[in-house]
Amino acid sequence: MKNDIVVVCGGGGFIGGHLVGDLRRQGFTRIRSVDVKPQTGWYQRYEDVENLVLDLDDKENCYRALQGAHTVYNLAADMGGMGFIENNKALCMLSVLINTHLLVAAKDVGIQRFFYASSACVYNGDKQKDPNVTALKEADAYPALPEDGYGWEKLFSERMCRHFREDYGITTRVARYHNVYGPHGTYDGGREKAPAATCRKVIQAVISGKHEIEIWGDGLQTRSFMYIDDCLKGTQMLTHSDFVEPINIGSSELVSINQLVDIVEEIAGVKLKRSYNLGAPKGVNGRNSDNTLIQKVFGWEPSTKLRDGMEKTYRWIHDEMVARKAGKAVRSYH
Ligand code: NAD
Repeated sequence: MKNDIVVVCGGGGFIGGHLVGDLRRQGFTRIRSVDVKPQTGWYQRYEDVENLVLDLDDKENCYRALQGAHTVYNLAADMGGMGFIENNKALCMLSVLINTHLLVAAKDVGIQRFFYASSACVYNGDKQKDPNVTALKEADAYPALPEDGYGWEKLFSERMCRHFREDYGITTRVARYHNVYGPHGTYDGGREKAPAATCRKVIQAVISGKHEIEIWGDGLQTRSFMYIDDCLKGTQMLTHSDFVEPINIGSSELVSINQLVDIVEEIAGVKLKRSYNLGAPKGVNGRNSDNTLIQKVFGWEPSTKLRDGMEKTYRWIHDEMVARKAGKAVRSYH
């Protein structure tokens, strides 16, 4: 029902901010957006939404966040790109407090639907050694050998969702997102991921006239990247479905990091001299999303072309960087 209370945890972040906007567009009238960051740091914030600054590591705050609510989307986590998660394993694992306390509160206050954002980082590392990847299907999470730190936390929290569903009857739903990108997200500061980082580096090269770019790794590592609109659609489809197992929500358009740079160069209309930092964190050699299951269950899969999504992402990051350089306020709130 459109007047049920819907809570977006991590609403000040990239995906959470977009989800709040999307729920508003769909006509939900009682949205609660919760994040630990001061509101001035939220990517998107709406005056007609109940915006709460709460640290969801804390159990009491989770009860406050979920009070009276019907549906919860848990998108709150300490996360970032490879550089961040390789160097902050303990911090990433501490996000287990958020999901644990939210689940306990969800059980006690009687939440009807609980969505958890897991990640492709739960997949067994042995299956991701070859850049010519075999796409990852849901069964590939076991036997478990996830990304150290961040991936273990995600896998544990997935299982916690499963057991709260089985033992306490909470309707939990789990998505394994594969690299999400788009406007209104992190593009600098150390937590940014490859699509946004590439846009920033290319824009910097254009603005400075220094036509060079540093690429982490040898550029041959492969990935797929999902545009935010597809992520939102899949998330809400899954949340309101009867499907109970963790499921991939990701694009299956595989590119190498070199090809990602090609795309951004083409959007910017430049060619840059590339250097490769082989000592930088680069993650697994290859990763793609096997979308057989999501096709079977929903008859749908993320399909926004990388070129199209990157064009929009590039434009937003470009405008932000230009505004920032000119000393203008870069966040506008609705
Ligand atoms: P994000 O960093 O932009 O958003 C996460 C938000 O959670 C941040 O605003 C942060 O302040 C908030 N947060 C962190 N700790 C908190 C706490 N203790 N209490 C309250 N809020 C807290 O990240 P995102 O890209 O929007 O990711 C959202 C979710 O999706 C995360 O769980 C992430 O692990 C998962 N995910 C994202 C991707 C991706 O490519 N972006 C891929 C796989 C999974």
